[in-house]
Amino acid sequence: MTADPTLVVVGAGHVAASVARALRRRGFAGPVVLLGDEPVGPYQRPMLSKERLADGGDAGLWLLDPEWCAAHDVTLRTGSPVERISAGTAEVLLADGTSVPADLVVLATGGRPRRLPGVDGDRVHTIRTLADSDRLRERLAPGRRIGVLGGGFLGTEIAAAAVTRGAEAVLFDLDPVLLARALGSEIGSAVTALHRSRGVDLRLGRPVTGVHARPDGVDVLTGAGTETVDDLVVCIGIEPNTEVAVRSGLVVGNGVEVDAAGRTSIPTVFAAGDVAAHDHPRYGRVRVEHVDVAQQQAAAIAKTVAGTPAAFADPHWFWTDQFELNVQGLGLAAVRPGDEVVPRGDLAALDGTVFWLREGRLVAAASVERGEEISVARELIDLEVAVRAEQLADESVELDGLLELDGAGV
Ligand SMILES: Cc1cc2nc3c(=O)[nH]c(=O)nc-3n(C[C@H](O)[C@H](O)[C@H](O)COP(=O)(O)OP(=O)(O)OC[C@H]3O[C@@H](n4cnc5c(N)ncnc54)[C@H](O)[C@@H]3O)c2cc1C
Repeated sequence: MTADPTLVVVGAGHVAASVARALRRRGFAGPVVLLGDEPVGPYQRPMLSKERLADGGDAGLWLLDPEWCAAHDVTLRTGSPVERISAGTAEVLLADGTSVPADLVVLATGGRPRRLPGVDGDRVHTIRTLADSDRLRERLAPGRRIGVLGGGFLGTEIAAAAVTRGAEAVLFDLDPVLLARALGSEIGSAVTALHRSRGVDLRLGRPVTGVHARPDGVDVLTGAGTETVDDLVVCIGIEPNTEVAVRSGLVVGNGVEVDAAGRTSIPTVFAAGDVAAHDHPRYGRVRVEHVDVAQQQAAAIAKTVAGTPAAFADPHWFWTDQFELNVQGLGLAAVRPGDEVVPRGDLAALDGTVFWLREGRLVAAASVERGEEISVARELIDLEVAVRAEQLADESVELDGLLELDGAGV
């Protein structure tokens, strides 16, 4: 019997792949077992509404190479739903009645799409898995009218993929401006104009009051009448998969509650990714659904497990692709009413950044086609550099120069 502890990850997605790699990089010597309920190993979920949906390709899709796993004593078990963690007996119990020894566990069960009660059938879609994406792609074809319910990141990416593949897209959202809640009205308005100019039929600012799925189409009811589409994609957010956590006796609120190091209420069990509500040193308790956050949390847990306790204090970076545009955001969980909003560049022309300032310090930023400005924003936030709105707004001011000034210009 080995003296090294066995670490089991429950859920074989982004967190699992990152934990496995980070543990081996940090010299963790025990066996690592990844238990996933999907029929395949971890893959790039963001591609499901982008590249994979657009063309069905699999370049860059898979996150773990079987040869790497074999060479690094990482066991990946697909089609293996987990029932619960038994920390007392140091094992993980599977739905098929078997168990796996587990001295340490990382719970990473992700989330599942919210559904409309009673609305289902062949014409109604959600996207979370590879199979969901592949099934939807077949429907995004010329001559078909695709409805998208929800104008968040996922809904807008899917509407863009639909028209790019030659289908018609009609997008319904209660908000009058796409993505405004997440990215502010400046970028939201620019993205809304982009979608409209590319032919997405936007039905904004009105509630959907009913949805009736039939074998040959879906009726979407709004105050303005009934719209009939061939298929409807429901993009109204996700719910964290907390069932395993609840059955295992972990503290669960809006997700599995973890401290800044990813520890749950049971000392040998960690949680990360979409299922975890972490205690962020700056933002308080928050559950975030971004790949980079999942990966960074996984890396912090691996560091702690390997002997150097690490807290996750990252400002939550993410991106979305809207047609050919790249949009990125950082720190948006920190934005409060009353923060000063400072635009830079020409957002109407889809080239610029919005900054949020509080008491002379940057708290958040979002950009269109300016990823490099988000990189500088990260440092300005991390280092809590004093900045003025005029400096951020002035295109003649080099943003990285502000890092060196550190308050001199204030
Ligand atoms: C279509 C789509 C597009 C996205 N685009 C972006 C983007 O552009 N940018 C961005 O930052 N983020 C994006 N995201 C979000 C990102 O994919 C998630 O934040 C990330 O996948 C979270 O990783 P995770 O490991 O927590 O969960 P997942 O990657 O979802 O992995 C969880 C795994 O656990 C499995 N599981 C659940 N219950 C059990 C059980 N009981 N037993 C065993 N296995 C179980 C699940 O089936 C799943 O395979 C996107 C998500 C989707 C769905």
